[in-house]
Order: sequence, then C-alpha cells, then structure tokens
Amino acid sequence: GILKPQPVAVEEVHVERGIRPGRLADYVGQQAIREQLDIFIGAAQGRKEAMDHVLLYGPPGLGKTTLAHIIAHELGVGLRTTSGPVLERPGDLAAILTNLAPNDVLFVDEIHRLSATVEEVLYPALEDFQLDIMIGEGPAARSIKLDLPPFTLIGATTRAGLLTSPLRDRFGIVARLEFYTEEELTLIVQRAARLFDFVLDEGGAHELARRSRGTPRIANRLLRRARDYAQMRADGAVTREVADAALAMLGVDQRGLDGNDRRLLSAVLQKFGGGPVGVDNLAAAIGETRDTIEDVIEPYLIQQGLLMRTPRGRVATEAASLYLGLAPAMARGA
Ligand code: ADP
Repeated sequence: GILKPQPVAVEEVHVERGIRPGRLADYVGQQAIREQLDIFIGAAQGRKEAMDHVLLYGPPGLGKTTLAHIIAHELGVGLRTTSGPVLERPGDLAAILTNLAPNDVLFVDEIHRLSATVEEVLYPALEDFQLDIMIGEGPAARSIKLDLPPFTLIGATTRAGLLTSPLRDRFGIVARLEFYTEEELTLIVQRAARLFDFVLDEGGAHELARRSRGTPRIANRLLRRARDYAQMRADGAVTREVADAALAMLGVDQRGLDGNDRRLLSAVLQKFGGGPVGVDNLAAAIGETRDTIEDVIEPYLIQQGLLMRTPRGRVATEAASLYLGLAPAMARGA
C-alpha cells in the first residue's frame, strides 16, 4: 500500500480505489497539467519510449496518486507504487527497479522522505537507467553495475521545496496541483454519487463542493457522511438542507473550514496578536505538528487570503479577524 503524509482511514483507502478516475478524460480540473500530460504521454507512446520523469506536488488529497495511476494507464504500461519512508535501504530500491518491465511507471509517494543513501542510488538510475550498488560488507564488499529497463519515475510530495535540488533537477516534468474550484468539485461529487448510486441533487452537490477546502478527497469524504446522514435522518437523498445539516454536525462551517483551521486562526489572532508568529510556536499552541500545519492546514488558509507567510512568521489577515468576528488586529508599530 501507499503511505500517505497523514493517516488515511482504511475505509477511505478502499472507497478511494473504487471512485478514482482511470482515464485522463475523467480527471476533473488541473487543466494545464492535463493538457501537458496529454502531449507528453502521446509523444512517448509514439516513440515507444519511457516518458520523462514527473514530479507532482501540492497539498494532500488533490489527486497526485490518481494522476500517477492515470499516466500509467494511458501509457499502457505497468505501475509499481512505493513511498519514500518504505525504501529504507538501497537494496529495497534496487529490488523494485530490477523488476520493472521496460517503460513501466514507478510511483514514489512522499519522495522527499527518501534517505540520502537511497537517493544516491536513484540518481544514475534516473539519468542513465544504471544501477550502481555495493553488495556485501567489509573486505568482501564490491560494487556492481547493472543496466535497468527504461522507466518513468513519478514522484509525489506536498512541497517541492522539501526535495534536495539534485533530485528535483532530474525531473523533466514538474507539475504543481492547485486547489479545485467549486464547479470542479461539484462534478467530482456528482460523479461519485453516480458510482455509489444514490440521489445527490444540484443544491446538495454545490453545498458539499463549496465547503470542501478545494480538495477532492475532502469532498468525497463529506459526500459519504452526508449520505449516511440522509439515510438516517431523511429519505436518503442528499439535498442542500441535508448536506448543510451533515456538515454542521461535522463542525465544517459555512466557509468550509474545520476545527483545525479555526483553532489555528484564532491562536494567531488571540494568542499572538495577529502575528507574525513562527510555525513552531504555533504548532505548540494548537497541539499539531509543524508538518501538519505546513502541509495540511495552512495552504488552504493562505489560498483563501486568511493567512500570510512572511519571513518572520505567520500573520493573520484582516479577513481572518472579520471571519472569526474579532476586531482587526491593532496596527503594530514598525
Ligand atoms: P493525493 O495523492 O494528492 O493525496 P489522491 O490522488 O489520493 O490524492 O486523491 C484523493 C481522492 O480524490 C481520489 O481517490 C479521487 O477519487 C479523488 N480525486 C482526486 N483528484 C481528482 C480529480 N481531478 N478528479 C476526480 N477525482 C479526483
């Protein structure tokens, strides 16, 4: 299985497999990336070559894993998946690479968490399809070189800046996934409801889409909870009213922010006078890890104009004070 940057419930993993789109044409949004990939996939196929290596980055749940599956499917090649933390030793990587069929795709989730020794082995593999590895220990140790089949590496990470620059430089295609619009998320939940075979009306779909933090994984999860709610408290159909009641029960507010989002914003505003506050202090104040703040919570708050990242730390915007119903932070002296 694939390790996610944050725990994903087992239920979710199974359900996601079922509703994951399988073709580029069914992948909603991310238009620039789709157009590029359509060309690169077709060109590689025409030449019967492995496609160039791809780096996908962006917050969790935006569709990086889904895109890796689609690329392999569209190329008509096999897909192997693993993740940075799973590849502990060079031998783990070597075992996977030597088992690939020509032009296969290798998907490495959380690629920023590769160990330095594994990364070293990866460089010549990416560049020349060569494996250069030490076997044995002590006086019996020797280095062996192996030719590998050509392959495409697809790496996924939450932030491109987490990669070492030599690794980043070896990707010929680098794509940043963006948060989805309400219209795009509406299409995604409508498609999922069709697959699950229950009634989701237009109003219900828009309400879920509007309050899903721009993230397909969240939209699909809220859809499932709204379906539960509809089954137990209504006639089974997810309407706007049912969606609204289910979201209120889950603590998702009118703007789609959850408890973590509100805790973070109110800490910046109330404990730290609006900021700037360093991310470590913020993490301690709200009892979350720094990684969760940086990867999961703040990207959406920043995109929404509620939070800013400055060289001296995080600053809450006036929109954030208005949103929380607090007086705007006092003007701070220069
Ligand atoms: P990531 O790897 O970026 O964390 P995933 O690829 O696992 O995200 O996506 C989470 C879920 O969201 C998938 O199971 C899929 O059903 C849905 N999803 C993601 N992107 C799209 C998209 N562009 N169109 C339709 N569904 C999507």
